[in-house]
Amino acid sequence: MKEYKLPDLPYPYNALEPYIDEATMRLHHDKHHLAYVNGLNAAIKKLEEAREKGDFSAIRALSGQLAFHGSGHIMHCIFWEIMCPAKESKEPKQGKLYEKIVESFGSFEGFKKQFSEAAKAVEGNGWAVLAYEPLGDRLIVLQAENHQKLTFQGSTPLLVLDVWEHAYYLKYQNNRAAYVDGWWNVVNWKEVERRFLSARK
Ligand code: MN
Repeated sequence: MKEYKLPDLPYPYNALEPYIDEATMRLHHDKHHLAYVNGLNAAIKKLEEAREKGDFSAIRALSGQLAFHGSGHIMHCIFWEIMCPAKESKEPKQGKLYEKIVESFGSFEGFKKQFSEAAKAVEGNGWAVLAYEPLGDRLIVLQAENHQKLTFQGSTPLLVLDVWEHAYYLKYQNNRAAYVDGWWNVVNWKEVERRFLSARK
């Protein structure tokens, strides 16, 4: 079976300046994201070994590593894709995604406020997540602790914001709120809409 791989960034390391600095992007992508890819491949391998030996004494730890590193890998893959240089970022004023946001949250501003507050209030390391929930055919905002906790199973993440300290500490130190507020300038709304249309199929 194939191994998981670290994808390249879809833009240069400095493309999100000044909102996300080059040094942070290099560390975040090349070191932190890579660690999740390696951790995920290791968890898969250890589970294979456990099956071969018939020894499941570490099953709780291994299942946890699978969820943590697997979710870490997926969330970072989405995170890189849903950002773009500020000059290419254009907030939607119409279209399918815009309409669904207004339907789900009452207004676009109401959505942004809820998402920002969720991001700023994540306890410890985690993410804010805009997700499509297919049973109710609606968009929801979630907080994810670490990468894998507090999910709504079956929902598809469309827009994710990493609020682990490694995502902002070099530039913003402890000022997570300033990072969150600046981050809206580099959202790739075209990609978010593409993910929404694909999730809804
Ligand atoms: Mn991260």
